[in-house]
Amino acid sequence: MSHYFDRDIALKMLEAQLIAAGAPVRPQTLERLYAFYQLLEEGNKHANLTSISGWESVRDELIVRSFPLAHLLNSAQPGARLIDIGTGAGVPGLVIKIVYPHLEVALIDATRKKIDFLTAAIDALDLKEVTAIHARAEDLAHHQPYRESYDFAVARALGSLSEIAELLLPFVAVGGTAAALKTAGVDGEAAQAAFAASQMGGEPAVLFLVERQGMDTPGDGPADTLVTWRKATPTPERYPRRAGVPHKTPLAAPASHSTTAKVSGE
Ligand code: SAH
Repeated sequence: MSHYFDRDIALKMLEAQLIAAGAPVRPQTLERLYAFYQLLEEGNKHANLTSISGWESVRDELIVRSFPLAHLLNSAQPGARLIDIGTGAGVPGLVIKIVYPHLEVALIDATRKKIDFLTAAIDALDLKEVTAIHARAEDLAHHQPYRESYDFAVARALGSLSEIAELLLPFVAVGGTAAALKTAGVDGEAAQAAFAASQMGGEPAVLFLVERQGMDTPGDGPADTLVTWRKATPTPERYPRRAGVPHKTPLAAPASHSTTAKVSGE
């Protein structure tokens, strides 16, 4: 079987997954997603970018699992601005830029080699209005033009929802949305993050359950959850806290806010 034939089939299946997710398929979308996969395989030989390799795994774990963001992005205006915090090898931010080329995208990661890979990939894919920045979110969020200036801040596999709320919402303009891609079963974690989100000026979380549509496990892959917070009011200047603190000491409601029943002393 020729290489060309394999690739042709691969692109057809990917197209079906994009359509199933409700995401648009434009000229170049499929070619670019496949080229991203090839760049990732090549880049992974030189630097440890992701543990995921092989077309089907990259497709299902990195590319397709970014598609639930279509819920948010299908109605985004041209030129809307999106920032991906802890993007790693470009997930979901670079995948999103390929599917929604009219968005202006910033990819943030604290690891230099990942940013170097992304900078080269952006160039190779001939994408405009997308930039990769080596920084920690806790630092960058205190600087213009980043603070409170994005329509969307997104993340996957960055940490707990409390940590994610503290790292994402300071980047979001009032009226914009922060969104985290998580696996299923995050209701408890979302409840724990309610305090952090409200401190950042976020409204209560809205959760979308997403069936996974892996071609290898038709129909019954575990569901993912898209957790979103709309930003209602500006984030106080003291947030996010210093680098490392949101991870080490996630924000939690003070004891007086706790819903745990108190036993009166007898
Ligand atoms: N989003 C990618 C990568 C997840 S791994 C994916 O889903 O595959 C988490 C990434 O976040 C790592 O690359 C790490 O360097 C980065 N990271 C962790 N904390 C960060 C912070 N505070 N600021 C910026 N990047 C961070």
